[in-house]
Amino acid sequence: MKHLTLLLFVVKAFSFPSSCKTTPGSPSWPPNTEWQELNKTISGRLLAPPPPAAVCHPDQTTFNNTTCNYVTSAWLNSTFHADNPISVDFENWNNDTCLPNPAAPCSGIGYPVYVVNATKAEDVKAGIDFARENNIRLIVKGSGHDYLGRSSAPNSLSIWTRHIGGLDFHDAFSPSQCNHSIKESAVTISAGVLIGDVYGAAAARNITIVAGMSPDISIGGYLTGGGHSPLSATYGLAADQVLEMEVVNAQGKVLIVNECQNSDLFWALRGGGGSTFAVIISATVRTLPTPTIGSYLLAINFTASSSEAFWNSSTFFHQQLSKLVNAGVSGYYYQDPPVTASGSEGGITGFLGGLFLVVNKPSEAAIDAFSPIIEYINRTYTNDVTILYLNQDYDTFHDWWFQYKDSSNVGYDMAMGSRLLNADVFSVPSSILMETIKAGTPLGNDPLGGFGGNLVSGPGVWNAVPRGGSNSVNPAWRNGTINHIGITVTWPPLNATTRDIKQGLLTNRYVEAWRKLDPYSGAYVNEADVNEPNYQHAFWGNNYSRLARIKREVDSNDVFWCHPCVGNEGWHEVGNKLCRK
Ligand SMILES: Cc1cc2nc3c(=O)[nH]c(=O)nc-3n(C[C@H](O)[C@H](O)[C@H](O)COP(=O)(O)OP(=O)(O)OC[C@H]3O[C@@H](n4cnc5c(N)ncnc54)[C@H](O)[C@@H]3O)c2cc1C
Repeated sequence: MKHLTLLLFVVKAFSFPSSCKTTPGSPSWPPNTEWQELNKTISGRLLAPPPPAAVCHPDQTTFNNTTCNYVTSAWLNSTFHADNPISVDFENWNNDTCLPNPAAPCSGIGYPVYVVNATKAEDVKAGIDFARENNIRLIVKGSGHDYLGRSSAPNSLSIWTRHIGGLDFHDAFSPSQCNHSIKESAVTISAGVLIGDVYGAAAARNITIVAGMSPDISIGGYLTGGGHSPLSATYGLAADQVLEMEVVNAQGKVLIVNECQNSDLFWALRGGGGSTFAVIISATVRTLPTPTIGSYLLAINFTASSSEAFWNSSTFFHQQLSKLVNAGVSGYYYQDPPVTASGSEGGITGFLGGLFLVVNKPSEAAIDAFSPIIEYINRTYTNDVTILYLNQDYDTFHDWWFQYKDSSNVGYDMAMGSRLLNADVFSVPSSILMETIKAGTPLGNDPLGGFGGNLVSGPGVWNAVPRGGSNSVNPAWRNGTINHIGITVTWPPLNATTRDIKQGLLTNRYVEAWRKLDPYSGAYVNEADVNEPNYQHAFWGNNYSRLARIKREVDSNDVFWCHPCVGNEGWHEVGNKLCRK
């Protein structure tokens, strides 16, 4: 037996080109007996899930018409993908290999092969150890919301955190091995708890946390990217609220990270990106007494023949953003020019507007802040626009969030690009700003794509003092960013030609226009272009060299790898394999 083990070891060590992570079918892929051992170690929680849409394909063993009807309708819903072990929100990250469309081919090749359905740190440790010892590509999935495809990969073992449960509220918090306690209330959120559930439990205590608009996001990806929020202009980014984390590192060690122990890792995990440094089991974050919210919905509709009115109004609107942010306005806006995708005018109507809020102020404050914009557009383009607004006051953040939470459709092919924009760039000459807006806004009113602005930064972000003095979020957030603009392009699945055209436009035209306007800024890693040029600098600025050093120290063998992520330069994807360069 001993000799057999030795022989297996020798075969493993020499029979595959060690320059690639192993794949099923290769001699170095662990035999079933070893997978069964792993399954035993984690109490039977190893899954080998079929692609969720296989139920729609008669050639698949799970084919079932009734379930197919359910999957087809649930495909648009992010909760469905969050609750499935391998599904993610945007199907292109599985390379469209199994869609809920019987006419398309179906195979599991775009998905992980096995999943550790973890409920605790020990399960995560077992999965990491197995992947490391067997040279298997390892990924981590929380909710599967990722816009950059980092929570899915072919030929991989996935750690799925959705069932690591637990939510624990504290009146004050003493970080482990620190000699002090933090006299602020806090909550320890396990990796499997979705933001909507945290909001609900916090609201029952009349408190809240700094988190985003979608109920289905998990802390693993959200906090590691930085995490913006409708409250962040006032209180800082979500990563700025973290007091401590429990993690499992690449060596399979369960660690507590905070300002007093493993402080480099603590710094890196708050902004340096998901699935790069460790798997988060839980994070303890500051809670806040719930603020009141003054809400303001704005809709400016432009007639089809009014593209000049649209571009001028949009330019004026963007010139006023700094004043809005200084008046305490946060929020989310969208714009659709009245111009078709082919560039012709007169065919479609235009839109500029969104959902805004003021924190701990009455909604009249938002009305006042917006009145110069409304007056200007009304006065200048009376016959081209209709303007509607609705203001309302909410006693609690949760009441407001519940009314407007993000229930956007998912389940399509898309790519996103973004730019963090400093207040100063909006004071360039009007003609330059208008040219940027024109070049940087997709045309054609794509209901799933287009241009959106996120007013999620302000004094709370600029002046944040995270525990330990700093964290690794993009320094551009601190340098006067007022607007995180996001641009989304979509394409029909299985259409590589259109995909390449759309992704090219995204990177080289739309986002490039905003890069040119603010070349010294950067982009928000969680809502960014997977093809962002020089992403190391764009996502992390001057923090990158420290992040790369920490990555080498904590994961010198690249047990964790993703793209575009810190320290990933030594590897690349070759077809469905991950290989050393
Ligand atoms: C509809 C929608 C709304 C959004 N709204 C906001 C918003 O308001 N504010 C905002 O800042 N962002 C927002 N985002 C972006 C969001 O921050 C990212 O999609 C984020 O990556 C989601 O993290 P997740 O863990 O839920 O997703 P996943 O796709 O599961 O994971 C994302 C990344 O984190 C890694 N990861 C997941 N769990 C862990 C873990 N436990 N330990 C280590 N790594 C882990 C994954 O491997 C992957 O790299 C939104 C996205 C969508 C689709």
